[in-house]
Amino acid sequence: MFSKEAAANNPFALLFDQLPFPTAVLRPDMVVEAVNQAFLERYGFKHGEVVGSPCYKVFYDRHDVCPKERCHFHDALAGQRNCFNLHQYVNEKGDEVFEEIHLVPLNDEDGQAQRIVEIVRDISEAKRLEASLTESNEFLQRLVNSMVGVVVAADMDGKILFANQSAKRVLGYEPAELVGQSLVSLAPREDLRNARRLLEKNKGQVQGIRTKVFTKDGGEVPVRLNSSYVYRDGEPVASVGIFTDLREKLKMEDHLVQARMQVVHSEKLARLGRMAAGIAHELNNPLTGITVYAELLKDSLPVDHPGQGDLNFIIEDAERCRDIVKGLLEYSRQGELRVEEVDLTEVVKEAFNLIRDNSVFLHVEVVRNYFPEPLMIQCDRKLLRQIFINLLMNAVDAMNGRGILTVTTYMDKEDYRCVEVSDTGSGIDKDHMRKVFDPFFTTKEVGKGTGLGLSVAFGVATRHGGEISVKETGPRGTTFLVRLPAQAPQELLAFARSYKPDQQG
Ligand code: ADP
Repeated sequence: MFSKEAAANNPFALLFDQLPFPTAVLRPDMVVEAVNQAFLERYGFKHGEVVGSPCYKVFYDRHDVCPKERCHFHDALAGQRNCFNLHQYVNEKGDEVFEEIHLVPLNDEDGQAQRIVEIVRDISEAKRLEASLTESNEFLQRLVNSMVGVVVAADMDGKILFANQSAKRVLGYEPAELVGQSLVSLAPREDLRNARRLLEKNKGQVQGIRTKVFTKDGGEVPVRLNSSYVYRDGEPVASVGIFTDLREKLKMEDHLVQARMQVVHSEKLARLGRMAAGIAHELNNPLTGITVYAELLKDSLPVDHPGQGDLNFIIEDAERCRDIVKGLLEYSRQGELRVEEVDLTEVVKEAFNLIRDNSVFLHVEVVRNYFPEPLMIQCDRKLLRQIFINLLMNAVDAMNGRGILTVTTYMDKEDYRCVEVSDTGSGIDKDHMRKVFDPFFTTKEVGKGTGLGLSVAFGVATRHGGEISVKETGPRGTTFLVRLPAQAPQELLAFARSYKPDQQG
């Protein structure tokens, strides 16, 4: 504090004293020469306790100078401007205090620093603000990064400014890799244009645009895009989009459609089955008559009679019709049913043995991968054999009698007993995939296929609580998979119990 007289003599001394920042004047030997009122108030010193003592003693209660990295006094003394130390401590109230201590050299006309002025700026509030800003920024970052969708922000020219962590998972890009790239490297130009048009039309918000995004490895991911503009002073300055990966959803929808189709298919087969049973019953007797009378007529004619050839055709065709009728009856689930416990692998082996014409396997390499333990199931073994006979014959046909036929039996994770029949044939046409289990669908030449093999197999498998499907097909061959539960369904057991021989077709 200055006396009136001193103040009148030296108005700068008054100015110094009334500066709002705590300020001290230090000699080159670090001894405090003067401090202002704000200094005394801030640190609770009396004038005499400070002036005449070295600064390290006053500020830090030390007996020697502070380490260089903490104090830039000597840099300031050497003429360096803009030196400051950061001083951080906890005050008596327990608050963290940050001070910026600026060191300003006062030079003489030779440029020699005669004094160092120390000005203290309390930056605690700024630091607290900075910390809370950093914290809320970090929180926002974490929030955006934890979003499942890919969040992308771009400027109004479509240059990407930000992408969240999901960019890595969905697109294969590190978020930083995307920054600076154009949005068109991420999504089709036309869809982006459309989104922008809608944004402008709908007050800067648009939802549910179906599009796709391009992954780093050149793939495409179907997505739903929600987007909005970011405004500053009423003007859009950026756009932000959330791309939601639709792959799982579409897969689920596909499964649902397939399941629905399966139900429709089963109902259709059931209806056709009833009709087929009726027709088969009606045809059975006349067909037997045709065969018997044609055989009688053939026997009554001399062997070289010109009619012999025609009669052979009649008999062959009638036999073919009988095969169809037999297939229809199997398909329509008529006939005896006997449920027993059998080893599924044994049933497959029986199917091989029952293929009458063994020559079909002449040029086929058969690979048998049978499960080492019995795969016991409750089933009607005769019906089940028919599944495998049909699959084996189809496999041989698909390979035109030449190739590798692989039969594998195993138990899957859900304890289902499984059989896979693979061939190296030319595969099933994409257009035919939906129809192969339909009755009477065949691509085989007239006289060779009836189109009943797979529908019979389908009927038998579903009746046993199982399923049959095309596991794989392509130019290198086809694999059919049959999955059957160990326990036969109650319905099948009840039918087997109620069966009476006079129901036979
Ligand atoms: P069919 O054998 O009398 O034609 P199916 O119901 O057994 O009747 O088979 C229907 C159709 O499914 C076949 O005509 C054929 O086009 C296709 N198919 C069945 N199995 C295979 C296979 N292993 N490879 C290729 N196509 C097959």
